[in-house]
Amino acid sequence: MSGKVFLVGAGPGDPDLLTLKAVKVLKRAEVILCDDLVHEDVLAHARPDARIVRVGKRGGRASTSQEFIDHLMIAEARRGRIVVRLKGGDPMIFGRGGEECEALRAAGIDFEVVNGITSGLAAATAIGAPLTHRDVCQGAILVTGTAQDWEALVRTRMPLVIYMGVARCAEIVRALLAAGLPPTTPAAAVANATRPDETSLVTRLDRLVNDMQRARIASPAVLLVGQTFGLEVAEEVQQHVGG
Ligand code: SAH
Repeated sequence: MSGKVFLVGAGPGDPDLLTLKAVKVLKRAEVILCDDLVHEDVLAHARPDARIVRVGKRGGRASTSQEFIDHLMIAEARRGRIVVRLKGGDPMIFGRGGEECEALRAAGIDFEVVNGITSGLAAATAIGAPLTHRDVCQGAILVTGTAQDWEALVRTRMPLVIYMGVARCAEIVRALLAAGLPPTTPAAAVANATRPDETSLVTRLDRLVNDMQRARIASPAVLLVGQTFGLEVAEEVQQHVGG
């Protein structure tokens, strides 16, 4: 009998944010390929005899090659095993989930994706702000810090949720200001969203880099730029929700 691979989102950190489906497949998994950003307590749902392989990927540190990960998933599934590929946040958002699906499809392996809460969404909630607000914007843009055309993004007038942007923060802010975003645009940074060491700050775009340095915000962090992240909107929405 051939096995199956589940690409599972572990959420932003807090193990209580796992989906019931993620817990169910973790309990079945014989092999778990786990990213660095996954909280240890998430693995508490694994069977005691599960083989756990850490395939960490973090800026600056040597990481397991994508080829090796693909090869291991495929080899274990061919041995008939239930394999969980556990990734931080949602597997299909900046997590190479798409590439892993392609590799599995090409190899003829049965697979399924189990969504998780993406860290950008958790980051907005951490500062009490919505990602969208019908009075302010019609959508939101999830983008990596390595994006090239910031001007095009600014033209959409949508709030920006920037992943993997800490290292290039100064450059990004310069590009956004040059593209015409007002210096007073609300901007926030949230590190380790939903974890015990969560740190966040809300400021204005022209002060973001300085304030982040002062607050020692480091990766993994999400940068949020746009009107919806202004404190007033956040407070108004909280009041609304609170009745
Ligand atoms: N698939 C993941 C993103 C992987 S890319 C997801 O959906 O969340 C890695 C980037 O995600 C980090 O550089 C950081 O920008 C962000 N990130 C992941 N976990 C985070 C957390 N708990 N708090 C803030 N940012 C986080």
